[in-house]
Parts: sequence; structure tokens; C-alpha cells
Amino acid sequence: MAQTITSAKQIQHKSRGHTVRQVRSNWYKVTSGETHRIYDVNLGVNGGTCTCEWGRQRPDEDRRSACSHVIAALNYRAAQKGRQVSAWTSVEDARRQHRSTLSIGDGVILTSRVKWHVSGFRSRSKPSASQKKSRAH
Ligand SMILES: [Zn+2]
Repeated sequence: MAQTITSAKQIQHKSRGHTVRQVRSNWYKVTSGETHRIYDVNLGVNGGTCTCEWGRQRPDEDRRSACSHVIAALNYRAAQKGRQVSAWTSVEDARRQHRSTLSIGDGVILTSRVKWHVSGFRSRSKPSASQKKSRAH
């Protein structure tokens, strides 16, 4: 039986201390806030994989890792959409948030909520004013 993560809140807190740098669309370099080691995180639709010790020990049938590095990368991705993720280890706790839930493996469930309203959805109201070209003659 594979180990499971029992304290999602602790992992979530830890994930906030990491630094995330995006390399490709689904590939992130996550620098640990504690050890300053850099791990490679690959995100899929339902979570991601990680090169940290925990991530490398994930079973072949489900390589997904719900370590703090993957959560940091998921939160980074969510932040680009103006959202913030929260981690839970019980379905009941997650459901209580009344948000859509995402199971990312290791028994960890994420919910996301809007952190701030992204401005820019009002686009195409008017064309860019910078297109005015002055003609000298
Ligand atoms: Zn990891």
C-alpha cells in the first residue's frame, strides 16, 4: 500500500514558500524554500509528477505526486487565471468549500477559488490607439 499524504494543510503551507519558474507550457522548475533544491514538475490535467524524493517513489500505476512542489506549480498555474488553490485530504472537507474539486493523487484534493478579478476581459472595446501613424506628407 502506498504512503499517502495526511496533512494537506502542511504541504499547502510549504508550497507557498517555493519559487516557481515556468519553462514550458506544462513544465515548471520549483525551487524549495527550505533546501533551495530545484525540482522538475510536469503538470497534466489531474495533477503532476515531480523529481523530488517523494515524487520519484510514486508507484508506476500512478506517477502523480501530491508533494508541495506540484501544489506550488498548480498554484502558479492557477494564479495566472487569478485563482488560488487549496489542498485537502478528505473529500468531505473539499466539498464543503462548494468549489469544483480536483483529485491530484496521493489522496490529495485541490479546490480553487478566485483570488482577484482579472482585468482584461473587457477587451475589444476599442482598438488600440497606438495605431495612429502620422504621415509627414
Ligand atoms: Zn516534489
